[in-house]
Amino acid sequence: MKFKLTAREKSELFGEGIVTIILLLLLNIATFVVLDQLIASNPELENGIFQIKMSLSFGPNNIRIWSWGWLFGVILLIGDGAFIYWRLIRRYRQMQLRHIIAELHYIADGHFDHRIPFQISGQMQKVVSSVNALVDSTIKAMEDEREIERSKDELITNVSHDIRTPLTSIIGYLGLIENKQYHSEEDILKYTHTAYLKSREMKVLVDDLFEYTKVQQVDAPLQLTRLNVCQMLEQIAAGFELEAQNRQIQLTVDVPKEPLYMEADGEKLARVFNNLITNAFKYGTGAKNIYLTLRQSSPEEIKITVANDGKPIPKEALEHVFERFYRAESSRSRATGGTGLGLAIAQGIVQLHHGFIYVTSNEKLTSFIINLPVKHQEK
Ligand code: ATP
Ligand code: MG
Repeated sequence: MKFKLTAREKSELFGEGIVTIILLLLLNIATFVVLDQLIASNPELENGIFQIKMSLSFGPNNIRIWSWGWLFGVILLIGDGAFIYWRLIRRYRQMQLRHIIAELHYIADGHFDHRIPFQISGQMQKVVSSVNALVDSTIKAMEDEREIERSKDELITNVSHDIRTPLTSIIGYLGLIENKQYHSEEDILKYTHTAYLKSREMKVLVDDLFEYTKVQQVDAPLQLTRLNVCQMLEQIAAGFELEAQNRQIQLTVDVPKEPLYMEADGEKLARVFNNLITNAFKYGTGAKNIYLTLRQSSPEEIKITVANDGKPIPKEALEHVFERFYRAESSRSRATGGTGLGLAIAQGIVQLHHGFIYVTSNEKLTSFIINLPVKHQEK
């Protein structure tokens, strides 16, 4: 939208023009009168002007055209024109500024989805664009803040819900003992055992939560070391040998022969891969194979994949698996006992290393792919 003046402003501008012209006319006449008298009383002056007149004149009969009155008339007219132009432009700019200020007040009054709508030519447009950009970034910051607030609330709701379930059953079983509602020592042992298992469940949840909030802190400290990635992955895989045997799943580790070093927090990264491999065991329904692959994708980057065959992750679940507390429908009903924080933590840790993680899943393979920079950059 082009910038437009209101009708009132137009007439104001017009009035200003008229007044200026009248004032200038008066001034011109006064100058004329004064000059006329000056010349009449001082003929030498006219001679002087006559010199200029001669030098400017051309053709034969031009004396009349270049009488001093004409000369000054033209000079004055040019001066007048420039003056009127300057005054009106100045006034016009003031009006533009007034419009901008009015828009600013409107936005400041809480109309945050409003932007200054008009286009202005010249320098002023820069002001308008800057104001709009400023409002944009302020709104974005406010929305981010709100989103964080909202997700914190959600986190608290989820946690209290997840803690309440085992806690209720702990209280229930301990209550049976407290009220002597048991028949034998065997009963007591059974109740305490259940309460013990439920407490462990709660401990896992609280630990996970603690870890999650820790990695969520942007300035969470990383214990950076020079890490031999091949070695780390082989060690982690070795820890799963027994589980693989029990479940009759083949765990294949495919890493380059020559050692690959990166700057990273080994303990945190190990947590990521432990969770990914545990997930593959837990959720890879019908899986026969788990593949752990390391590749150097560029001089600056490595790519680590944890993949399993078996039933794919449903399409609608794929985009949610990294959300905290998210567990796909099928895993929720199972007694696998996860909290749904593992992948959220993994993502947090990878991001702290300035890498990224994503998942793909099809009939053949479900793959979690992690890209990590070899050198850690402070950001
Ligand atoms: P936690 O890791 O906190 O103990 P969890 O394993 O349930 O709990 P995540 O690791 O975040 O939580 O995984 C989230 C969900 O993603 C899982 O509940 C599961 O539904 C799905 N998922 C993760 N990995 C796989 C996989 N390899 N195959 C199928 N589904 C998976
Ligand atoms: Mg998990």
